[in-house]
Amino acid sequence: MTPTVFSPTGIRFENIDKRYGGLYALRRVSLEISAGECVVFAGRNGSGKTTLLRIAACLVRPSSGRVSFLDSGKERDGTLPRAGFVAHATMVYDELTAEENLLLFARLQGIAEPAARAEALLREVGLLERRSSLVRTFSRGMRQRVAIARALLNQPAVVLLDEPTTGLDPQGAHWFAETLRHLRDSGRTIVMSLHGESEVSTLATRAIQLDAGAVVADTRTGANFRSVLAFANA
Ligand code: ADP
Repeated sequence: MTPTVFSPTGIRFENIDKRYGGLYALRRVSLEISAGECVVFAGRNGSGKTTLLRIAACLVRPSSGRVSFLDSGKERDGTLPRAGFVAHATMVYDELTAEENLLLFARLQGIAEPAARAEALLREVGLLERRSSLVRTFSRGMRQRVAIARALLNQPAVVLLDEPTTGLDPQGAHWFAETLRHLRDSGRTIVMSLHGESEVSTLATRAIQLDAGAVVADTRTGANFRSVLAFANA
């Protein structure tokens, strides 16, 4: 894994509402996630998990309420933390090779020594030998590896993952769990949506259940881990 060059960062959601027309995707969500936590959002389809992740990634603005980022428990003033977001649809270019994808995003993000960084990440995600293959020839699991490498390019303090294990075979899911373990142990703050219990869910330090856009259970306030995760399958 690459060296730790980020500042541990927590996330605070204060009274967040997100409305689409008359529909509340999120309703009065207040949560504080401490630096270094590995948090799972669980809940049925449509319960608001993706919307909350997108708000944390500053890709979507809340209709009301606010999200802020914490450094040593205090609110960071103004500056956004470096965050990596792995969306459900892997945002990588099919007609570029794995390496070209990483080089493109590294250059767009103004990362120093993009070629060296791309190579280090290709090695980290186990794709060095396939660096010159077009992404369109990759399996879902391999595309997911490229997407994760892309999200880690800028050494993010916060890693946000939307259903990262969907479509992975057992070997891919095992690889992802190992990668997640490294990320967690490096002190990054991880927030992800997941379906049900798995090798990945055992790495979580906290699980939060959403239902119809509201937080209805949180292991930090005493909810049972297994029942929160099981809810996703209900
Ligand atoms: P989950 O990730 O738990 O499946 P989402 O956050 O994707 O849930 O969606 C929560 C609710 O918000 C759903 O009812 C969904 O249809 C709605 N929603 C999400 N994004 C949009 C959008 N861009 N426009 C309209 N409705 C949306």
